Amino acid sequence: MLTGKNAVVTGSTSGIGLAIARGLAEQGANVVINGLGTPEENEGVRAAIEADFDVKVLFSPANMLKPVEIAAMITDAEKALGSVDILVNNAGIQFVSPVEEFPEAKWDAIIAINLTAVFHSTKAAIPGMKQRGWGRIINTASAHALVASPFKSAYVAAKHGIAGFTKTTALELAEYGTTVNAIAPGYVWTPLVEKQVADTAKARGITEEQVKQDVMLKAQPTKKFVTVEEIAAVAVFLCSDGAASITGSTLPVEGGWTAQ
Ligand code: NAD
Repeated sequence: MLTGKNAVVTGSTSGIGLAIARGLAEQGANVVINGLGTPEENEGVRAAIEADFDVKVLFSPANMLKPVEIAAMITDAEKALGSVDILVNNAGIQFVSPVEEFPEAKWDAIIAINLTAVFHSTKAAIPGMKQRGWGRIINTASAHALVASPFKSAYVAAKHGIAGFTKTTALELAEYGTTVNAIAPGYVWTPLVEKQVADTAKARGITEEQVKQDVMLKAQPTKKFVTVEEIAAVAVFLCSDGAASITGSTLPVEGGWTAQ
């Protein structure tokens, strides 16, 4: 379905981004993966996708805190593959703390990686998409783009910002065969969620098991963590011709969380 298309997926050495990169490669797209990690780890992820799906897979070490590196990730991908047809802005970090104790540096990093980086990569990718008259931009937002939880002020602010940025860019690109959508996952069991269990337990004064059952899964009527493969399946659908008229939306994939 995506043979001949080239994709860049930020934050794709782990978790949701990795599953999306694999999902796009499975459909025949060449993929640029990106993330932090050791050269050995990154090469292991890259080589595995290439071997499993017989597509070109490149690695970009761009740090989403650095605008110059983000722009270079897109131009390097265009040079190496010929185009960037699909951009998945997925890299993200989390920090859990009451607002009055929230470290300024953590606030700045969350806004930079989860929101501002999406501006820089999108800005760099748009001219090529407009010129070719086809593009797909998918932003990994969160249920926290639609509703809030206490102690996640920077994350909720950034993800609400993603929903707004998605709408704006969708309008600007609507006549250029290019859709822009956000996916809003509920709790997906990945390293990002695993890491916040202890901090949430501390912030709320409860045990880690209570965090999983009474905070995270309490929010999700299905009482199940969403899987990374389910998110990847939605991303693949959004890249299909059948999704050509879906643009500007933030699609909840959260087990019914925001229906409540
Ligand atoms: P993860 O921690 O498993 O993966 C994050 C990825 O981003 C990794 O590849 C990491 O190397 C990369 N990354 C982090 N900082 C980076 C930086 N400065 N520059 C480049 N890459 C960087 O996390 P995940 O759970 O898969 O989350 C991925 C996205 O999904 C995030 O935007 C997150 O907010 C969103 N999300 C996750 C959940 C969940 O429950 N896991 C729910 C809703 C939304």
